[in-house]
Amino acid sequence: MSEPIIYELGAPGRCAAHLPKLDVPPSPLPPAHLLRDGLDLPEVSEVDLVRHYVRLSQMNYGVDIGLYPLGSCTMKYNPKANEEAARISDLHNVHPYQPEESVQGNLALMYALQSALAELGGFQAVSLQPAAGAHGELSGILMIRAYHRARGDAQRTVMLIPDSAHGTNPASTSMVGLEAVEVSSDERGNVDLSALTPHLNQRLAGIMLTNPNTLGLFDEHVQEICRRVHEAGGLVYGDGANFNALMGIVKPVQLGFDVMHLNLHKTFSTPHGGGGPGSGPVGAGPALADYLPGPLVARDSGAEGETYRWEIPARSIGRVKSFYGHFGIIVRAYAYICMLGASGLRESSEAAVLAANYLQERLRRTYPLPYPRTCMHEFVLEGRLQGAPGIRALDIAKRLIDYGYHPPTNYFPLIVHEALMIEPTETESKRELDAFADALERIAQEAVDHPEWLHEAPTRAPLRRLDEVRAAKDLVLCWERRDSRDKDGQ
Ligand SMILES: *Cc1c(COP(=O)(O)O)cnc(C)c1O
Repeated sequence: MSEPIIYELGAPGRCAAHLPKLDVPPSPLPPAHLLRDGLDLPEVSEVDLVRHYVRLSQMNYGVDIGLYPLGSCTMKYNPKANEEAARISDLHNVHPYQPEESVQGNLALMYALQSALAELGGFQAVSLQPAAGAHGELSGILMIRAYHRARGDAQRTVMLIPDSAHGTNPASTSMVGLEAVEVSSDERGNVDLSALTPHLNQRLAGIMLTNPNTLGLFDEHVQEICRRVHEAGGLVYGDGANFNALMGIVKPVQLGFDVMHLNLHKTFSTPHGGGGPGSGPVGAGPALADYLPGPLVARDSGAEGETYRWEIPARSIGRVKSFYGHFGIIVRAYAYICMLGASGLRESSEAAVLAANYLQERLRRTYPLPYPRTCMHEFVLEGRLQGAPGIRALDIAKRLIDYGYHPPTNYFPLIVHEALMIEPTETESKRELDAFADALERIAQEAVDHPEWLHEAPTRAPLRRLDEVRAAKDLVLCWERRDSRDKDGQ
């Protein structure tokens, strides 16, 4: 990286902090053996510091800069009103050990969010504890395991997972100690019904279904799959990380799902990416509601009005997160739901599906569409082009950076060759969608006329193309002074 790093900008004696004069007795330092010296901290001025962080922010890309079509991640615009709500001091200046009576407002808000999510999913109850989607999966699979054990069915350890599933599904299953067994998809992108049959037996714990799946397709046999799994004594887990096509239109419990997580940080417009906090509430139908991680918030109606309290479900798998879960995320999601209302949520799902289908129809003229069906909130193209044999999905994705866009998800789902998974979301205008499609069409032409432009891309980004293997395997998270690194030959 050619930009100066703040550690290299420093000079002895510069300082960006100005502390007031000490007006309390100085407190003694810890004993000498606990102190470190020779810490190589930069000494920088205020202006150095400001420029450092502003420069870093300009090297980044986010939903507030432009379209971010990262399929499966639902990078939609996050209304700023949500941020204001999360900063209401009466909500966030609360201590986690405060007694219930003194946090009635926080509990009321959590109860209202539980209820709204229950209404959207058709759930009997919802727990707001899980801290992310994968954490919701872990909770839901623990619930399924507890259910089978309680019925003396501990031999039910097989969890079926379609080959289009997100990698977190088999990972969560294995973490719970169940056995992840892959089932294949058919040529229309649905779960292959005949692949289920050999597993419909006494060892079946359940199936993890993503619907719409990661191809962006609504499984045409979803109710049939749920029925067969139930008949065999299994349960159905729904990966609802991407609920963006369904809000106000389909209630998963009515389709046959027993438990499902929802990603507040995708569908419900909480900022995410870069490993920031998320929230993956888990909702359950009648078979599993008693097993939810607790406590949940319960409401009592008395002579003096409504009061709220914590409550642990009867057969709860226990706590999966301390205190209130990620409360700031819970407030943002609730603000978003209130702002849109029931009809607004439905409208946003409809607009998300419309935007994805519009883009799909435009782009399938140029890029192969392996599953040519009406899509839901996203779709998957192949990053292969006629007349440009040396071009891969990665080259197209990198070239998009030069056009000022974040690339789509690529090489996922694994069942599509050179996958480019595009999710425009409902917050993009037709003008933006057209501009994005224009860029991809121009790139397709460049791929034929100037393939080297794609191989060399990105050329207009702070960093050029990375060595992907080295970036993953040899992640450098700590800065070291250049001269000492040079000595090691790095
Ligand atoms: C994002 C996602 C997950 C995981 O959610 P995290 O919050 O990142 O743990 C699981 N399944 C699908 C389909 C997803 O898109």
